Amino acid sequence: MKGEVHHHLEESIRPYIDLIDTLRSVGIQKDLALPTIVVIGDQSSGKSSVLEALSGIALPRGSGIVTRCPLELSKRPRLSYEEKIIEFGDPSLVEKHVEEAQNELAGKGVKICDDLITLEVRSADVCDLTLIDLPGIARVPVQGQPQDIGNQIKRLIMKFIEKQETINMVVVPCNTDIATTEALRMAQEVDPEGIRTLAILTKPDLIDRGTEKNILAVVQNKVIPLRKGYVMVKCRGQQQIDEKIPLVEATQIERDFFQNHDFFRPLLDENKATVKCLAIKLTQDLVSHIKKSLPKLDEQIKKQLWDVRNELKECEAGPPQDLKGAKQFLIKILTKFNDKIKSLSFGELIIKDNLFVQLRTEYKKWNDGLNDTKTLKELSQNYRGRELLGFSNYRVFEMILQDRVAKLKEPAIKSLNSIKGTVTHLYVQLEPKIKGLLQQAKTEQRIMDQFEMESMIYTQDPIYLKFLNEISSDKFSEAQLPAFDIKSKYSEMLQAYYEIVVQRMADQLPMLISFYMLKETAQLLCTDMLSILEGANVSELLFEDSDVSKRRKYLQSRLGRLTAAQEALMHNLVLNSVSGRIQILLIVFMLAVICIQNNINGAKGLSDSAMLCVFLITFLYNEN
Ligand code: GDP
Ligand code: MG
Repeated sequence: MKGEVHHHLEESIRPYIDLIDTLRSVGIQKDLALPTIVVIGDQSSGKSSVLEALSGIALPRGSGIVTRCPLELSKRPRLSYEEKIIEFGDPSLVEKHVEEAQNELAGKGVKICDDLITLEVRSADVCDLTLIDLPGIARVPVQGQPQDIGNQIKRLIMKFIEKQETINMVVVPCNTDIATTEALRMAQEVDPEGIRTLAILTKPDLIDRGTEKNILAVVQNKVIPLRKGYVMVKCRGQQQIDEKIPLVEATQIERDFFQNHDFFRPLLDENKATVKCLAIKLTQDLVSHIKKSLPKLDEQIKKQLWDVRNELKECEAGPPQDLKGAKQFLIKILTKFNDKIKSLSFGELIIKDNLFVQLRTEYKKWNDGLNDTKTLKELSQNYRGRELLGFSNYRVFEMILQDRVAKLKEPAIKSLNSIKGTVTHLYVQLEPKIKGLLQQAKTEQRIMDQFEMESMIYTQDPIYLKFLNEISSDKFSEAQLPAFDIKSKYSEMLQAYYEIVVQRMADQLPMLISFYMLKETAQLLCTDMLSILEGANVSELLFEDSDVSKRRKYLQSRLGRLTAAQEALMHNLVLNSVSGRIQILLIVFMLAVICIQNNINGAKGLSDSAMLCVFLITFLYNEN
């Protein structure tokens, strides 16, 4: 079959079929749809038989649901599904392997599955088309099938036929009502103009006597007109399969059948009958389809390449594989990380919700809270000691202040905790280990120390005096101060001192937190990070299992596929575009001129070189 089908087509179609094969071999179909042919039709309409006749490979066939997963036929001798690849030399094992694969994917029995099984075949008499066999349309579920099997199958079929890149081969048996075929209706739904729909009429040997004329009218496109028309084929019937009639012989039987048929004989001349004719038509269709799809493919690949490259830029470069490079890489990321931490702790890092913006609001809250505590109630009798009325006691003064300062501990720790939340959140984005390193305990201890100190009640005299004078209506100098030691003035004196405490604490807490929580943590983190380098198992450290690395790997493989695809496409476009040919012609012409000039000088051998050039030019012209 191959000889007949391909001889005159070979040269014009080969580059296109090869191109698609190359694209498929780089796996580009994972990124975009490639031109393919799918076979759809009712159950037992003869889909697998047609594919079998086209490919020369025996597929699982019979009545009921036999094809239960999409089966893709292309040229290499192996079967692949999911991650598995099964290679086998003997084509007669295809049936067995396909069945096993289906059982594994769809389960034993009669259920279906969307996972594609790819069957690649190469044999002397196989035609180079990539075809996909789909489960047949079933209306009534059989024992063991889910109630919605009909819809499941239709949905699966739709998934394939709605793609603009597919040619839909609709298989309809002659012995049914062609006009009401569901597959034909579905194909028309996704391709109303019929640009990529081809109908195949099977089982012409099984028709009712008397219906021949009607069927002939259908094949001649007079009943349900389709742009691409119809082809009638006669495949091996069940009996011929059982008798193990080889495909080559079946081809001859088919030919004889049409030649001897009173009604269908003219179809041979009209190129509307036999598998061979179908193969030629399909190949032509596929190639013209590929030609049409190429600019779009090219565009899609370019766009995806652009996107992938951009996305890859966003995933930082991954670790190099060699040890030396890996160590340098590790030092680089650690240093980069440390810089980030440092600038974060200094408030330099400009990120959305900058750390210091958040800290400032927190510190302001602390300050506002402090100011709210300033209003002092009247000195109550609670603080009166054993002294007689009218005597003053400095201890009372001290106690009151100590009490009040102690009350600030709780809001201070609250502020610390809330700031810890913010800082952890930001640092953790950089390094998940941070939680253990955050100097919270130390910071908390320093804050407590500060409160201890505050219980000492101390300030410099001039400072105290300054605040006292601000609060009191009377103005005093240091020398006049003793006159203040009267109970009526106590509240003003307390207030003045508390104001000093408030001011001190308002600054002190933020400073403690900034120092211990941010800077010290950052520093610790940096040392910690750098100590990783000592005696580190670099490859273990650099082993990535993050989402980023997975994404990077995925993008890199996509980039590889797309680049290979683009190269294949470019190669093909240059060879096939008119300008490409003209360029080659020009080069040859130049070469010819040079040769002739050389030979004019040398005289001898002129005719040989000239002949060679003329030959080359003629060859390229013919190609064109
Ligand atoms: P599928 O379910 O559409 O894949 O159909 P199959 O290819 O499995 O064919 C169903 C049955 O119809 C098988 O027994 C085939 O042998 C038989 N069959 C297919 N084509 C023809 C044909 O042209 N003539 C005859 N007599 N039988 C055919
Ligand atoms: Mg089938």
